Amino acid sequence: MRAGKYAAHSVLLLVPTLAVLAACGSYSTHNGAKQQSAESTTSANGATTDLGHPKAARPLEGLIIVVNPGHNRGNVAHSNEIKQLVDAGNGTKKACDTTGTQTNDGYQEADFTWDVSQRLVALLTAAGARAKTTLTADTPWGPCVNQRAAVGNNAQAAAVISIHGDGGPAGGSGFHVLEPGLDSPIKARSHQLAVAVRDAYLTGTGMRTADYIGRDGLNLRTDMAGLNLSKVPTMILESGNMRNAADAARMKDPSFRQKEAESLVRALQRFLQ
Ligand SMILES: [Zn+2]
Repeated sequence: MRAGKYAAHSVLLLVPTLAVLAACGSYSTHNGAKQQSAESTTSANGATTDLGHPKAARPLEGLIIVVNPGHNRGNVAHSNEIKQLVDAGNGTKKACDTTGTQTNDGYQEADFTWDVSQRLVALLTAAGARAKTTLTADTPWGPCVNQRAAVGNNAQAAAVISIHGDGGPAGGSGFHVLEPGLDSPIKARSHQLAVAVRDAYLTGTGMRTADYIGRDGLNLRTDMAGLNLSKVPTMILESGNMRNAADAARMKDPSFRQKEAESLVRALQRFLQ
């Protein structure tokens, strides 16, 4: 029953999104009308003039989106720094950051989340958004989870997208979305964001909702500093279970990671429309 409902949503969103991607980059589309308008900037002598994208082709124009790549590839070499305790936003303290998980053959969660984040930033930028990340390739470790939350707050982001991969039981598979469980001004809106991400990811990647945690792909949490400390709509996507062989194989595939990024753009379009 749920699958049917989501499929209907995905059909509505699919055409405009593909048109956006076609107008801004190397993506193919069957939408001839939109493609024609994007090509109409080519002059008679063949020179291409950038006249700007049609407004409809930049659906996230001017919106600030913070992308948070879970963990940092440098954390493994900074164990003392990342174990410092920071405010968890629920009256307790927790570790600044962790190294993250990995697949059984050594593909690191931090590498996965960095790659997806880079793909997502590129797509968001093409859609007109002002994408900002919580760390750059030069960030040696961290930042701590409380500082990551501050990036979204200080930017007054329209949404914060945190990307992770889970390290669950090997027999469990699927993705889930963590959403703020504490009562706060952003709880309801974050739930809407989490649902939009769940729906778009389900239809856009084919990854099923987790069978070992959460319910229908959603998981209310009160222990995540990034969620507790946020003043803007936020969620955490556990993209799959990296300890599960089938999930791991998908997450190691660059084409899957591109689908993940495209799904997140669709989710943001729906959430912010
Ligand atoms: Zn993680």
